[in-house]
Amino acid sequence: MAERPLDLHGRPLGVLRLSLTARCNLACPYCCPDLEDPPDLLTLAERVALVEATVGLGVHTLRLTGGEPLLHRRLEELIAALQPLRRRDPGDPRGALREIALTSNGVLLGAERARQLKAAGLDRITLSLDGTDGTSVARMAGLGGAAAGEAVLTKVLAAIRHAREAGFDPARGALKLNAVITRSGNADQLLPLAALAREQGLELRLIEFMDVGNRNGWAPEQVLPAAEMVARIGAAWPLEPVGRAPHGTAGRWRYRDRAAAGADGGAHLAVVASITAPFCGDCNRLRITADGVAYSCLFAADGTDLKPWLRPGADAAGLEQALRRLWLQRRDRWSEERQMVRPGEGVATPSRSHAEMAYLGG
Ligand code: SAM
Ligand code: SF4
Repeated sequence: MAERPLDLHGRPLGVLRLSLTARCNLACPYCCPDLEDPPDLLTLAERVALVEATVGLGVHTLRLTGGEPLLHRRLEELIAALQPLRRRDPGDPRGALREIALTSNGVLLGAERARQLKAAGLDRITLSLDGTDGTSVARMAGLGGAAAGEAVLTKVLAAIRHAREAGFDPARGALKLNAVITRSGNADQLLPLAALAREQGLELRLIEFMDVGNRNGWAPEQVLPAAEMVARIGAAWPLEPVGRAPHGTAGRWRYRDRAAAGADGGAHLAVVASITAPFCGDCNRLRITADGVAYSCLFAADGTDLKPWLRPGADAAGLEQALRRLWLQRRDRWSEERQMVRPGEGVATPSRSHAEMAYLGG
């Protein structure tokens, strides 16, 4: 078996987040996606070659993201083309892909699309929704007015239903809900979102507002710390910790009433505290943009353009070497370092430019 690289902090490579487009059909102000894609988007064959190369270095989980990945017309084709990597034996010396997941805002997830994704071989879907009323959804999605927010909300609620009906089972972790919480934007939506997720039997993943990119107006005062989110929800429905999965980004909690009734299902609460409680020490994620630039950290300023090893025609050995070199030289622990720069202050101000979120895919 080819040797799997460890980075300079001894971390293996495990998860690839592949952004398929930098464009989006929403305009969440905390994300600020681009109106146009970069000119040099990767082709389907180039994406397959990239995923195969990273699988050889240890990637077992692929998350397709964006921008909005459902805007990508060849999404199902890409998922289908990756199935041979999933069918490999776990002990295959070339590595094997265990699962393919998708993060989406759900607006374009109709019943037929959900069935097509399942049939193509998608394993898991995480849908993003930041509120349960039209006004909150409009504010968090950058839409003009409550009616537009209401329309998006209706579509996302339908998307949850379509995904479930297509076979993405929340009790098996195959369907989850993401929500970014900001102090002035939607902190009042914590309880309504938790109630919705409990009712639907979904894991709710609450994400601290992160200083990714340079144009989302991030300010420390806008971050609602994960501990506060857990305290507020726990006051309504008492919680007990379940712990963090190895290499997981989220601290997880279960509802006492559900656990006591033996009706835990998938409806846990998870909090992603990358600002107030960074998890860099365990980070096994690589991000690749829609135009083939690899970033070894969500907060990185610079990436490595992999196109020279993809065009014209993939140079599999060169690509593997370039990725291996990138991972062996990886020293990023940006979130932890930010905390050390301003000890005791909890949340520090950003101090350098970052790549934009829609390129990095969350
Ligand atoms: N459009 C898809 C969606 O919204 O799910 C996929 C791309 S989006 C960049 C991936 C995830 O990143 C979403 O759950 C989104 O809420 C989250 N996100 C975007 N900007 C963020 C920020 N500044 N801080 C924290 N999470 C953010
Ligand atoms: Fe679009 Fe997702 Fe960014 Fe919102 S978070 S603007 S839905 S890419």
